[in-house]
Amino acid sequence: MSSPEEATDTVWDVIVVGGGPAGSATAITLAKFGQRVLLVDEQGGVKFKLGESLPPLCVGLVTHFLGDIDAPEAGLCGVFRTAGNVSVWASDQPQISDFFFTQTGFGLCVDRVAFDDALRQKAVAAGVTLLTGARFESCTRLVNHTFNWQLQCGHGVPVHQARYLVDCTGRRSAVAKALGITALDTDDKLFAYAQWFATPTQDDDCYTRIEAGPHGWWYTNRLPGVQGGMTKRLVVFHTDKDLPHAKLAATVEGFQQLLGDSAHIGSLLADHGYRPFGTIRGAAANSQRLASFCGDAWMAVGDAAQAYDPLSSQGIDKALRSGSHAGHLIHYALSDGPTNSGALGHDNHYIGQYVLQQQQLWDKYASQRDFYYQTQPRWTDQPFWQRRS
Ligand SMILES: Cc1cc2nc3c(=O)[nH]c(=O)nc-3n(C[C@H](O)[C@H](O)[C@H](O)COP(=O)(O)OP(=O)(O)OC[C@H]3O[C@@H](n4cnc5c(N)ncnc54)[C@H](O)[C@@H]3O)c2cc1C
Repeated sequence: MSSPEEATDTVWDVIVVGGGPAGSATAITLAKFGQRVLLVDEQGGVKFKLGESLPPLCVGLVTHFLGDIDAPEAGLCGVFRTAGNVSVWASDQPQISDFFFTQTGFGLCVDRVAFDDALRQKAVAAGVTLLTGARFESCTRLVNHTFNWQLQCGHGVPVHQARYLVDCTGRRSAVAKALGITALDTDDKLFAYAQWFATPTQDDDCYTRIEAGPHGWWYTNRLPGVQGGMTKRLVVFHTDKDLPHAKLAATVEGFQQLLGDSAHIGSLLADHGYRPFGTIRGAAANSQRLASFCGDAWMAVGDAAQAYDPLSSQGIDKALRSGSHAGHLIHYALSDGPTNSGALGHDNHYIGQYVLQQQQLWDKYASQRDFYYQTQPRWTDQPFWQRRS
């Protein structure tokens, strides 16, 4: 890993901006093809990150990128097997959807900070140069030059050049925005309020628990590992940021009050003696996508291209899967000889395939999201549900 000042090479086939799951997956795939890749991330070390529940569908991808999840080294990213989802959604009766009859028979719960870090380490092992503590600021398209892009990542950081640029900066879509690409579907105001809980009591729960309420919906996961004899659990409330209950959810007291009104999750915490710790963390959870997923010699991957409502539980799967697709297609585009070397935009056969995949992904996601919200028939007088009916 290099700090911005230590990086000596400054020319690359591909620069990937953003070292989350999408960035690491894209970088690993490209590096395995022999492309020279720089992976840039602004954060040296994050303390928390939301999104820890992976469906059975994602287990193969995790194994592909991280190796055997049962190997001792996998313990570093705190992966544990999950049994399914328990949702109190269409009625006040819990519905269990068990992973037992899926292809893998289990899903995964991960410690996100450790998981993302393990993926970046795999990128380095694959030959990627990782530059942390470097924030993407701007880029310049070079014309009639061996390299298509010149990147600026802060004062005192050398300028880096690359043939191709990938935006994996998550919901911020920092590169695409710098290139003037707008976000679509910006009317969704869904916001997540997260509170961590700890208990000295044993909690072996292996289900993700989801619960609808009059003003939004909840999920909770027990987190991997026991620290100092304490088991931790994350509880997240989702509502629209402009609704009055959002203000309540943003304070520890208000959050507790809302939990007290919940049908099941509040009592699950109380039964296990869970106590809240730390402050409430907020995060945008709205569905959004870019007006263009790629352009001339650049592409957006993962949440940077399209970000999903956490109800889908598909964000990490999409990040890893589209990172793998993007890595393959960028490699083919860059290797496709002189006829394509100057045409790395939509007209490129391989890049065009990526655009099509992204459009299909969005259409499928949006119809599934609408379907799930519409199967929740209660509280038809409440704005949160009226907006989604
Ligand atoms: C409340 C909530 C719950 C969720 N729950 C789940 C879940 O249970 N399961 C699931 O699969 N998904 C879940 N998700 C979604 C999941 O977290 C995301 O889909 C996933 O993190 C996307 O990965 P990514 O690599 O595209 O982006 P990110 O993980 O956001 O990574 C982006 C990276 O870019 C870096 N970056 C940003 N700007 C710059 C810049 N200017 N310069 C340099 N670096 C930059 C950041 O530091 C970060 O490392 C949830 C999301 C939310 C909000």
